[in-house]
Amino acid sequence: MPTEEEFAVQRERMVRDQLIDRNIADPRVLDAMRRVPRHQFVPKEYQFAAYRDRPLSIGYEQTISQPYIVAFMLETLQMSGHEIVLEVGTGSGYQTALLAELGACVYSVERHRMLARQSGQRLDELGYENIEIYVGDGSQGLADMAPFDCIIVSASAPSLPKPLMGQLREAGRLIMPIGDRRSQYLERVWRVDNEFQFERLLQVMFVPLIGRYGFKEI
Ligand code: SAH
Repeated sequence: MPTEEEFAVQRERMVRDQLIDRNIADPRVLDAMRRVPRHQFVPKEYQFAAYRDRPLSIGYEQTISQPYIVAFMLETLQMSGHEIVLEVGTGSGYQTALLAELGACVYSVERHRMLARQSGQRLDELGYENIEIYVGDGSQGLADMAPFDCIIVSASAPSLPKPLMGQLREAGRLIMPIGDRRSQYLERVWRVDNEFQFERLLQVMFVPLIGRYGFKEI
């Protein structure tokens, strides 16, 4: 097993080769990716591969996204540090930690009770205090905490869930994969003067968002 120092070297290399070389340029995103110890968010048996250019299994048929995809999504949100953020699909909590580094406060919803519990514990141990994790169907958003400056959904849906549109603040940004179960596009949505502007950005493959405004469970 690599030491913490070796992991730090791997992390620096990940930022250079997978992010900077592929045009991720927001210094706040790059710094956050340098700080958050990704290896602590993956199961022990995959820690050796934590900084590779690929997604990894986190159990319960779920995955932690490839570092580049996480950085790409974070960069599209153009966060400055003051944002109230909704994350749907906490999973390992890795992206949650990055959001907590980049914004003011993160509300994260996870459907799997065990994943929510594990990631909550991990984020506590790492000392994050501006994160709240909820168990539930994030396709319905989190009405009690709305509106949000930024919404990030890390599971795919056939279309943009209506409640999420309603919970996005004026001038807010949302990013999520939209498409069918096999393939999707990351789409960024800006709320401008109460209209929603969609931008199709990158072809991706995410696990499905299972819920009322996502896919049905099969
Ligand atoms: N960003 C995560 C990746 C999570 S994978 C990470 O960094 O690890 C997608 C997650 O979305 C899974 O954990 C899955 O359980 C969750 N999910 C799927 N449908 C959901 C829903 N309706 N509400 C909340 N979470 C959901």
